[in-house]
Amino acid sequence: MPAPHVIQDYETSQFPTWCPGCGNFGIWTALKQALLELNIEPHKTVIVFGIGCSGNESNFVKAYGFHGLHGRALPVAEGVALANSGLTTIVVGGDGDGYGEGMAHFIHTIRANPNITYIVHDNQVYSLTKGQTSPTSEHGFKTPSTPFGNPDSPVNPITLAITAGAGFVARGFAGDAGHLTGLIKAAIQHRGFSLVDVFQPCVTFNGTNTFKWFYGKVVKLETLKHDPSNRDAAWKQAQNTDKLPIGIFYQKDGPTLADEFPVLAKEPLVDQSPTTRKIGGLLGKMG
Ligand code: SF4
Repeated sequence: MPAPHVIQDYETSQFPTWCPGCGNFGIWTALKQALLELNIEPHKTVIVFGIGCSGNESNFVKAYGFHGLHGRALPVAEGVALANSGLTTIVVGGDGDGYGEGMAHFIHTIRANPNITYIVHDNQVYSLTKGQTSPTSEHGFKTPSTPFGNPDSPVNPITLAITAGAGFVARGFAGDAGHLTGLIKAAIQHRGFSLVDVFQPCVTFNGTNTFKWFYGKVVKLETLKHDPSNRDAAWKQAQNTDKLPIGIFYQKDGPTLADEFPVLAKEPLVDQSPTTRKIGGLLGKMG
């Protein structure tokens, strides 16, 4: 198979069915561009998708794909990364899937620190089911499920991830695909769990958090002279709701889940003989 050299090499024959102008297009473009620039071939990439409009991307990116159960993409990806460390493992899902149904998996995957990149299409609404309040919807947000306004406070995935101990926490904006490409590249290159939460305007069901609204609010952390190695500073920046910082909030290397199993240090599990796996597993248990 010839090495990919243009972004179209990461596309299938299917053109996205998303609404015209949807923020998903910017994230789709940034992901393909990041894979291209990192020279990661489609057959060396596996993407596990959650349920939601973003999950439809499983039809539009050329890579190995698994369209998981609602909220259950992360544990599937964790298994993939452990079984075949020779693949680049990415998870693509939405805010409802990841921070609602999948919230427990979000926290516990951070604790385990498998070598996967999690890209969240965060449009602050359940869009596939036609516009109900999601975990990241603003307080007071009116939808068919909350006609008098959302009574809950929104989840802040950035502060949550930092607090839970994630080693790479970033946020991007679908309206700046070039900047987002850089974030996704850095996330894939990070060894361990990496989160890229992405502001993704839903042009059909979210009339509040629009492209225009975000253009007036987002600010790049690079311009704030933010130091991503400073966890306290990252946490403070993540709480800023007046302006909405995008970029890498926090990054720190640490042992990954695979480092806990010596059998995985030699070569990917799928390439090992059953005998090697048995002996290696015992050694791993003996620690
Ligand atoms: Fe995009 Fe919203 Fe349309 Fe879904 S409903 S494709 S998120 S614009």
